[in-house]
Amino acid sequence: MSAILNAPWIARQATDLLAQRGHAWLLQGPSGLGQYELALAMASAWLCEKPTEQGACGDCPSCHAIAVRTHADLAVLMPETVMIALGWPLSEKAQDEIDKKTRKPSKEIRVDAMRDAVEFSQRTNARGRGKAVLVFPAERMNTITANALLKTLEEPPGAVRFVLATEAAHMLLPTIRSRCLAHTMKWPEADEALTWLSGQGVPAPVAQALLRSAGGRPNDVLRQAEAGLSPEWWAALPKAMRGGDARHLADLSPAQAIEALQKLCHDLVLRQSGAAPRFFEATQLPPSLASAAVLTDWFKRLMQSARTAEHPFNAGLMLEALTADAQQTLLSKG
Ligand SMILES: [Zn+2]
Repeated sequence: MSAILNAPWIARQATDLLAQRGHAWLLQGPSGLGQYELALAMASAWLCEKPTEQGACGDCPSCHAIAVRTHADLAVLMPETVMIALGWPLSEKAQDEIDKKTRKPSKEIRVDAMRDAVEFSQRTNARGRGKAVLVFPAERMNTITANALLKTLEEPPGAVRFVLATEAAHMLLPTIRSRCLAHTMKWPEADEALTWLSGQGVPAPVAQALLRSAGGRPNDVLRQAEAGLSPEWWAALPKAMRGGDARHLADLSPAQAIEALQKLCHDLVLRQSGAAPRFFEATQLPPSLASAAVLTDWFKRLMQSARTAEHPFNAGLMLEALTADAQQTLLSKG
């Protein structure tokens, strides 16, 4: 189970939310703040046999069942790629199709999975503590799956509670949002995040530098540290882009590269307007005469690329194209 479950800022929010009534929650906010972990903490507490004000006990049969990912009263709705990454088992049918290479793991929440979840919510619960449905990332529902969920949210069949977690609430159907109690994820205190990260084995100086590049989001820092992205690598990124060095991006997926370049663009726009950069140190940014208009256009192109980044024709070529575009922008003279 993810260590961030025990992070103090997640625990505080869990206590807060569990004290309130509500059969459907929407946890929203930017990535890296732990909405999946908070959602899991809430579902665990709902199903726990000896819950405390702080949440699940962590030690009862229900908690153990969740820890090993086989709780009869918990349905987890995620894209298959996310389930695999987070260690949740796929349905037998889905696993079979993927094993036989009939299809690739889906990056959306599949209609089949939603049908199973709707059917699940109509069954009686196995352990007598009600049932829970966890949806993450909720923005990966298409219109069909979202509408199927909406029906269940509108007429909840008895003792089932829902927790949806999203990093892009604006992409959800407004009708889904309005059926849920919304909670906006809270930011950890800076020293809290540093203490937690050092507990995860990220040394303090590295954590400090990476917290800056991750915009203060501890989960993203952990991801970066695990991916081996050092503060030195981050510091050298702007100048590498100005020099057109695509190798600097070689260890990133196109989606990660786009995210990094968006942060660079963001900081260049801030500098243009006379503000302090957010993700880089001022000294790490290369000289550039690019105007605000040129930078804004670059940002728009990056957003467009982000839409295709999950299915790149060729990841290497895409990284080269992204680098070339970054270089051209940085060298632009107006
Ligand atoms: Zn328990």
